[in-house]
Amino acid sequence: MYQLKSYTETNSIYQASEILINNENAMIIAGGTDVLVKMRDLKKSYIDKDLVGITRIKELNEIYKDKEENIIIGSCVNFTKLEENEIILKNIPILAKSSSLVGGPQIRNMGTIGGNICNGVTSAESASVLFALNAKLEIENINRKKIIPIENFYIDHAKVLLKQGDILSKIIINKKDYEGFKGVYFKFAPRNAMDIATIGVSVMLKEKNNKIEDIRLAYGVAGPIPLRAKNTEKLSINLELNEKNIDIICDNVLKETNTRNSWRASKAYRDNLIKVFTKRAILNLIGVDYEN
Ligand SMILES: Cc1cc2nc3c(=O)[nH]c(=O)nc-3n(C[C@H](O)[C@H](O)[C@H](O)COP(=O)(O)OP(=O)(O)OC[C@H]3O[C@@H](n4cnc5c(N)ncnc54)[C@H](O)[C@@H]3O)c2cc1C
Repeated sequence: MYQLKSYTETNSIYQASEILINNENAMIIAGGTDVLVKMRDLKKSYIDKDLVGITRIKELNEIYKDKEENIIIGSCVNFTKLEENEIILKNIPILAKSSSLVGGPQIRNMGTIGGNICNGVTSAESASVLFALNAKLEIENINRKKIIPIENFYIDHAKVLLKQGDILSKIIINKKDYEGFKGVYFKFAPRNAMDIATIGVSVMLKEKNNKIEDIRLAYGVAGPIPLRAKNTEKLSINLELNEKNIDIICDNVLKETNTRNSWRASKAYRDNLIKVFTKRAILNLIGVDYEN
């Protein structure tokens, strides 16, 4: 059974934030695919809550380009919409792809990109992709609005930079972070659907004359929080895109990841997946098949 005290549907960020600030027992619910599961499991910090619904707030459901052609995604946009939206498909298909791999159709219809980030888990399908896209997050409450890089948002497993009353309102992808890049996301999981990623690999690549002009290497489940292999990215710049260099890149990534053993997979297996999928991603982006 669900144990909750109350539910309030809100129509504005201000209204939602005001309730949250004045009631320490209040908790945001977006799609509810995490909140309701935890509530039904009687997880201590999720029971007897005053839930504050935010999915009917209009501005949280929009996807658009601003005047500078930055892509703005409202936090309550669900995965089905991300998978099908023209702006996403045309400019950042890597996000459409990762969205299409979340759960099953019912979960994609309910689960939101904001909830996926705010639950703070490293396996979240949006997380490594948004790291690779250098996404910025707009966080609002009744007193202020701030914009922070996504990499500053994750503090520790299931811990993000949100205070009571804060609402993640928008995800911002600047034009310079998608224009000219090609991107690919690979989720490795034993089952094709309804399975949490054993490893998530996101690669964005800008190439010129068969050399790497810019590259972003981002990973989920490679550490307690999503991460970028930034040193490897730096050493990759200007490298020719040949198999030898790609192998050097893939080996080097492991110096920056921090995988662990769990019942899902061993550390050695995860490390191998990171290398194989990084190679597959880069080769895929330059039009070469690699099925190792
Ligand atoms: C069967 C099943 C399969 C799943 N498969 C996958 C999968 O393959 N990949 C994957 O990544 N996830 C998966 N999930 C997890 C889940 O569906 C996603 O994490 C989803 O994106 C959560 O979004 P939501 O809107 O439902 O969040 P909610 O459950 O509503 O909220 C999640 C958390 O975020 C907070 N929150 C939500 N929105 C905001 C906001 N705008 N500002 C501040 N805080 C906020 C809530 O208070 C809560 O703490 C699965 C879940 C289930 C039940």
